[in-house]
Amino acid sequence: MGVSYLRVSVTDRCNLRCRYCLPPAGVKPVAHEEVLRFEEIARVVRAAIRVGVRKVRLTGGEPLVRKHLSRLVAKLAELDLVDDLSLTTNGIFLAEQAKELKVAGLHRVNVSLDTLDSERYRFITRGGELARVWEGIELALELGLEPVKLNVVVIKGFNEDELVKLASLSLERPLHVRFIELMPFGPARAWFREAFLSAAAVRAQLEKHFGPLLEVKKLRGAGPACYHRIPGAQGTVGFIAGMSGHICFSCNRLRLSATGMLHPCLFGKGEVDLKGPLRAGAGEEELVRLLAQAIALKRSRPSSLPEIDHLSRLGG
Ligand code: SAM
Repeated sequence: MGVSYLRVSVTDRCNLRCRYCLPPAGVKPVAHEEVLRFEEIARVVRAAIRVGVRKVRLTGGEPLVRKHLSRLVAKLAELDLVDDLSLTTNGIFLAEQAKELKVAGLHRVNVSLDTLDSERYRFITRGGELARVWEGIELALELGLEPVKLNVVVIKGFNEDELVKLASLSLERPLHVRFIELMPFGPARAWFREAFLSAAAVRAQLEKHFGPLLEVKKLRGAGPACYHRIPGAQGTVGFIAGMSGHICFSCNRLRLSATGMLHPCLFGKGEVDLKGPLRAGAGEEELVRLLAQAIALKRSRPSSLPEIDHLSRLGG
């Protein structure tokens, strides 16, 4: 499988502390000078285009805590061959920044949202305010940052009783609700077994309520998610079976960490440092060679257990 998708973590910092992602005090932030500058990220993306990348997603940490993110968006939007430029965010600062991101050339957003209940939201994120996220989602729809996808991590004992309600968001609005299997990273490792609910179980629960879901052809930016529609709905529901599914076969992505490490695979070892070469004056040819090296690592068989401490570090 060729690589066409680059996820770029623009910061390791986050303004929330989701219980399945980070410890209560967060993780020690890396020094500012260790984080790639916008101009360095743009150089990597230019080289990535040479190896086939056409989709770029900005993520983190929380990308909207990085100052002047729209300047990076503008730099990347200038690159003609990037035909899908998106952002994954927790949505807390989205209402404040959506307009300037749109103007800068952002195509669309994914917003993480695990519950529709503000108390539960405050609990799972350790302090987040749900109303602000909704404001951001509404504005993203209004501005046409579409398709707007919502990422729901499914956690038994936390939101399994809300799955129908969450899926129903796709009925009246063009929202695309994606149910993501919990993965045993970081703090979730300790309680993963009790809290895991498979994508198949989620689908069964939805079909029990809505009847059979309809198959949907590819949605813009579709990766390992498969999409379905509740009959009559404007949006879709999707399932990302990171644990139970065989997503490795459809994986077309590389991840660039905030500190410039290129990770070919969430599940395996092997990473390629780009920051060193970038700062030592590597030209585009050298970056292309390093990207190709990471892609080659991707083709080797992944191990089955994730070895990652915190998704926030390398760009979830
Ligand atoms: N801060 C941004 C956000 O909230 O979308 C981007 C980074 S966040 C690490 C990216 C995604 O990873 C979020 O949708 C989050 O729910 C998901 N995530 C984090 N830890 C996870 C875990 N243990 N299992 C499954 N998904 C996880």
